[in-house]
Amino acid sequence: MRAAVLQTIGAKFAVENLVDPEPKTGEVLVKVAACGVCHSDLHVVHGSVGFPTPCVLGHEVSGVIEAIGPDTKGFRVGQAVVGTFIMPCGTCRHCANGHEELCETFFQFNRLSGHLYDGTSRLGRANGEVIAQYSMGGLAERCVAPVGGIHPLPEGIDLLDAAILGCSGFTAIGAVRTTGQLRVGETVAVIGCGGVGSSIIQMAVAFGASRIIAVDVSAEKLAAAVELGATDVVNSLDGDPADAVREITGGRGVDVVFEALGRPETIEKGVMMLDDMGRLVMVGLAARDQVARIPILHTVRRKIQILGSYGARAGSDMAALLEFTAKGVYNPSRVVTNRYALDDVNLAYDDLEAGRIVGRGIVVM
Ligand SMILES: [Zn+2]
Ligand SMILES: [Zn+2]
Repeated sequence: MRAAVLQTIGAKFAVENLVDPEPKTGEVLVKVAACGVCHSDLHVVHGSVGFPTPCVLGHEVSGVIEAIGPDTKGFRVGQAVVGTFIMPCGTCRHCANGHEELCETFFQFNRLSGHLYDGTSRLGRANGEVIAQYSMGGLAERCVAPVGGIHPLPEGIDLLDAAILGCSGFTAIGAVRTTGQLRVGETVAVIGCGGVGSSIIQMAVAFGASRIIAVDVSAEKLAAAVELGATDVVNSLDGDPADAVREITGGRGVDVVFEALGRPETIEKGVMMLDDMGRLVMVGLAARDQVARIPILHTVRRKIQILGSYGARAGSDMAALLEFTAKGVYNPSRVVTNRYALDDVNLAYDDLEAGRIVGRGIVVM
């Protein structure tokens, strides 16, 4: 099969032929339809998040089941599915307590070593060289994933655009529903209106937010945010965004801020956008050494809550996301703005890095 291989940290992707992967017990083989283009992959490319090389990145996929591992139930060949970037084992202490987003097996075997849960990767070259897989390794024509990370796709959803359900939509519903616990009538600011931010805006509409303030430096992204349901926009290039958010809300600030960039300065501004007892939901990932400065008096005196949010629960949150999507409450096609061929994978990530992708890009296999 053809796959985009990252040979070393900092290199460009090279599309090459790898051995077709085969699923083991508890796994399925997916013929990939599309794979989303996400900043988390760039963190690996730049070495700001550690991961072994050579590797195949790509961690939100859609496709069709092509083969099922031995003694593995629950799927049929030909079934349309999406893969979530967190692939829970189902048995570790966090999975057992319903917090699959913290699955220890996933972090230990996949994020540290690029393997699946028998301690080996399903990817390799014809000469026997092993290739690490980041989640399922979705930037390829085929991928193998544990069944805990694979979800049947309801009918009526575009199979290609559905790829972004696995990270962009997944992260958004985890942030809004589980971490932020957004309630009807609350006010919201969303900092960073790319793939995850524009999914959060759609989700905030669905959860009944009374006011949704989109914050970005791109006039194009802010215009797209209004199309998705943002009630107000703040361009951070025009002045202090925290002052602007307070002004829009009559001096109070908002109930919940979603920070989708993972940048110290926007996290610091996010705290200052909150009303008393407000929640800052941190969604964007950053390099290991990035640190934000939190004002102590302001945070304590106003009872501000600062909450980390990573992905979502592959069980209950993903079920809710798929139901939202089936009903059209959340529409991945309104987030996907750019489609690339596998041979143009380097262009896709260059565009992402340069801010040229308004919503989300996908690589179509
Ligand atoms: Zn991602
Ligand atoms: Zn687990």
